[in-house]
Amino acid sequence: MRRKTKIIATLGPAVASFDGISRLVEAGMDVARLNFSHGAHSDHAQHLEWVHAACDKHGRSVAVLQDIQGPKIRVGTFPGSSITLEAGDDVTLLPGEQEAARGEIFIKYLDCVENLGPGDIIELLDGRISLEVSSTDAGIRATVIQGGKLRDRQGAAFPGLAVNLPAVTDKDRTDLLAGVEMGVDMVAASFVSGADDIRDVRELAGDIPVIAKLERTVAYRALDEIIREADGVMVARGDLGVELSWAALPRVQKDIIARTNAGGKLSITATEMLESMKESHRPTRAEVTDVANAVFDGTDAVMLSAETAIGKYPIRSVEVMDVICQEAERSPELHLLKEDMFIAHAARFPSAIAKAAVEVTHNLGIPNLACFTESGSTARLLSKYRPQADIIAFTNNEPTFRRMAGFWGVRPRLIGRHDTTDDLIVAAGEALIAEGVVEPGEHVVMVAGIPPNQGAQTNLVQIHRVGSGLKRT
Ligand code: PGA
Ligand code: MN
Repeated sequence: MRRKTKIIATLGPAVASFDGISRLVEAGMDVARLNFSHGAHSDHAQHLEWVHAACDKHGRSVAVLQDIQGPKIRVGTFPGSSITLEAGDDVTLLPGEQEAARGEIFIKYLDCVENLGPGDIIELLDGRISLEVSSTDAGIRATVIQGGKLRDRQGAAFPGLAVNLPAVTDKDRTDLLAGVEMGVDMVAASFVSGADDIRDVRELAGDIPVIAKLERTVAYRALDEIIREADGVMVARGDLGVELSWAALPRVQKDIIARTNAGGKLSITATEMLESMKESHRPTRAEVTDVANAVFDGTDAVMLSAETAIGKYPIRSVEVMDVICQEAERSPELHLLKEDMFIAHAARFPSAIAKAAVEVTHNLGIPNLACFTESGSTARLLSKYRPQADIIAFTNNEPTFRRMAGFWGVRPRLIGRHDTTDDLIVAAGEALIAEGVVEPGEHVVMVAGIPPNQGAQTNLVQIHRVGSGLKRT
C-alpha cells in the first residue's frame, strides 16, 4: 500500500464485530475513533479489543483515538422526545437539560452565554433550525426563523457569541479515566476554547497525546497557542461550520492545516467527507474532490464519521477514501521539497536533522528513510517535511508503534532494544531486507539519536548501505 495520507474511521453499530473491524483494517483504516458522545464504556472497550486483535491478525499498526464529548451545548428533552417548530413560533428559552413544557426549550450552558440580546441567532441541529432572540427582559424569548423537527439533546450553537464553557465536564472526566484504563493511544478534546483547556485534558490523559478539535470561533482565534500546547489539531467541520458559517470553511481549513503543519503537529480533516456514502455505494463528485483537496491542503489524515459508524457501506467508504488519497498523492506539487519550511519552535535540533535527512533522500532519490524513536516525535517531524521516501519508524515502545500509524507517510515497525546505535542501524537494515522492503546493498537514510536508550535528541543522519555492516557506505 503506497498511500501516505492516513485514514481515521469512527467505529459504531455498522462495524461492531471482530469481522467488521478486521475488514476496516484490511481496507486501510489507520486510526480507529471511539466516539464517547455515544455508546457505553463496555462497547468501546470491546471495540478496542477487536482493533488490537485485528492488528495482530493482519500484522498492522492501528492507533485508537478516544473522542471525548467536551462541553457540547445541547437542548434538553421534550415530551414524546421531540417537538416540531414552525417559522414564526415564539418560544421561551431556559438554561438546563430538563424536559420542556409546551412553548419552552431548555438549552445547556444558556446561562454561560455572554451578552445575549435581541437579534442574536441560535442555531439548532447543525444549523438546520434557527431561532432569533426577541427579548431578554423577562426571561429569554425567541422566534423561530427556520423550523423543523427538534429531538431530545440535539446540538445548539451561538454563532459569534462568547460562551464561558467548562474545559472538561464530569462526563469527560469519567470517560477519560475509562479511556486511559482501556489503553487508548490518543485523545481528541471537543469544543476547546484555548490552550488552558488542552492543559486540563492533559492532566487527566497523562502522556497520551491530545488532539484539539477546532469547532469554535474562539478556538480558531486562539489557534497559535492551541497548536503550541496540543499534539494535533482536527478541523471539526461539523460544529465549526455552524459557529463560523459554512462558507468560511474551505479558507479556514487551509489556514488551520497550514499553521498546524508549520508548528510540527498532526493535522486532521473531519466530517461529511463522504457523507452520501451513508446511503450510497459511491461518493458524489463533490465529495471525491473534497477529500482530494484536503490531501492537497496538506492534511495528515482524513476522517470518516457516520459513514463507517452507522452507514450502509462502512468498508467501502474506507476503500473509496483510500483510492481518492492515492490518486491525489500522484499530484507532483505534493512532493516538492519546501526549502523555506523549518519547524523552529518545536525542537530545533531534531527538526534540522529531520529536514536534512529528507533533503538527502530527495537529492539522492533514496526511497526509504528509517528512524528510531521512543516517543514518535522524530517520525512526526520527518513526516512534516513530507518526503517522497517512505518513513519507516522503528520503536521498541508499543504505544508509540500504534500511535505513529496516524502520521502521514509513516510506516511503524517494532524493534528490540540495542545497546549501541551501530547495532540498531544494522538490525534495522536487516529487518528491512527480511521484509523485502530493500535489497542487500541498497541505501537507506537512517536518522537516530546517539547515544541510544538515554533520551538523546535526534542528532544523526546516516546514508546506510543495508546488509553491509557499518563498514562501507
Ligand atoms: P463531532 O466532531 O463529530 O464529534 O461533532 C466533529 C465535528 O464537529 O466536525
Ligand atoms: Mn463536533
